Amino acid sequence: MMGLKYSSKINKIRTIALGLIFAGMIIMYIGLLFRNIEWLMLVFMVLGVIAIGLSTAIYFWIGLLSTKAVSIVCPECHAQTKMLGRVDACMYCKQPLTMDPDLDGEEFDEKYNSGKYWKEQGKK
Ligand SMILES: [Zn+2]
Repeated sequence: MMGLKYSSKINKIRTIALGLIFAGMIIMYIGLLFRNIEWLMLVFMVLGVIAIGLSTAIYFWIGLLSTKAVSIVCPECHAQTKMLGRVDACMYCKQPLTMDPDLDGEEFDEKYNSGKYWKEQGKK
């Protein structure tokens, strides 16, 4: 859980995937600069394809994670955000969202993660 504070996990993974796409394109562009040196161009092209392929895999992974993420209404900015695991941060205001540590090892209580619960609490 450490090191994941103050930044939404999904946002963070998305940033990495986006960065990999750009890295892949830059690597392939560099490869084009070496088109006179065939093997070097090939190395850059393969690296670029690997980076882009990896980011595609990460995007696919985000899709899987999103189905597991729980939609909640951020108690701080009242925006609908998604939370992964017991500790995560709001996607919009970076507010750390922490599940009650007492809930650790307990049956996960869905009501804390549903927007309905917070609406019932009068927090919209
Ligand atoms: Zn928020």
